[in-house]
Amino acid sequence: MTIKNILKFIVCPYCHKKLLLRSQQLNCSSCKNIFPIIKGVPILLKKNKLNKQEIKQQEKFDYYYRQYPLTYNLEYWQQSMLKRIFNHSFKRNIKTYLDIGCGAICYTTIEAVKRNNWLSFGVDISLEAVIKAKLLARKKGLDDKTAFLVCSAEHLPFKNNIFDYISAVSVLEHLANDKKLVNDAVRVLNKKSYLYICVPNAYKNIWPFLWPFYWLGDFRMGHQRHYSLKNLNKIMEKRGCKLIKYFYNGHLIKLVQLLLEKLHLLKGKQWWQWEKKDINLNPKGLQLNAIYQKKQVL
Ligand SMILES: [Zn+2]
Repeated sequence: MTIKNILKFIVCPYCHKKLLLRSQQLNCSSCKNIFPIIKGVPILLKKNKLNKQEIKQQEKFDYYYRQYPLTYNLEYWQQSMLKRIFNHSFKRNIKTYLDIGCGAICYTTIEAVKRNNWLSFGVDISLEAVIKAKLLARKKGLDDKTAFLVCSAEHLPFKNNIFDYISAVSVLEHLANDKKLVNDAVRVLNKKSYLYICVPNAYKNIWPFLWPFYWLGDFRMGHQRHYSLKNLNKIMEKRGCKLIKYFYNGHLIKLVQLLLEKLHLLKGKQWWQWEKKDINLNPKGLQLNAIYQKKQVL
């Protein structure tokens, strides 16, 4: 999308007022914040407004994505993630989609256009990621139906009630203030629209022998917390959203599948058979997936 088209959807992330395009930068018409546009990507955050955790995560992911190769071969786990996000009966009613934490490969945003023809927005706190994401979408000829922005997940730069579907995969656990993201995601969601959340499952639900590995992963990735379904429901219900579907993945069977995959013993149909068994309602899975619907315009 051109900046002019993107402007129809965005507002100042801090005061939610109109942004004006002035010689390659966006000026807030109210709080006077100025947001630069770098390589066609609007940077809709101010460094001095990021919290400590966001600064750490931005540095970490900028470093990570700087060396990330710009190739696009979807791995099995990514294909599975796409199925988990897209394959629901409500998908035919969706026209606008936002992926929060899209990363450099931004496969959710790209495939949302390719498979569903949704108008798709990808946002991330890492400029390195978003510049690569934009390049990839352009390479694939999807410029007209995609937009990529840098922003804080706690201050989404979008107008109220504009998205039919939002996904936040492995995002909430990284934030110092996860409730700020939930508030803002619900604000920008249309009435009766959907939010897909994927988060690490609560320690108490998983096998204790996995706790040290889980803890190590948390430490390396900078995770702030885990979630039980009850816990997540409480957060969402407070904001007028109801749970419509949930499932877990990352059960013990996944570990066997990963091992067999590493040994090149599992491909194609067989891989998917194992995957199908791994995605279920057994709460011992490492990841919790939940889809909520917004009940009313707030
Ligand atoms: Zn403003």
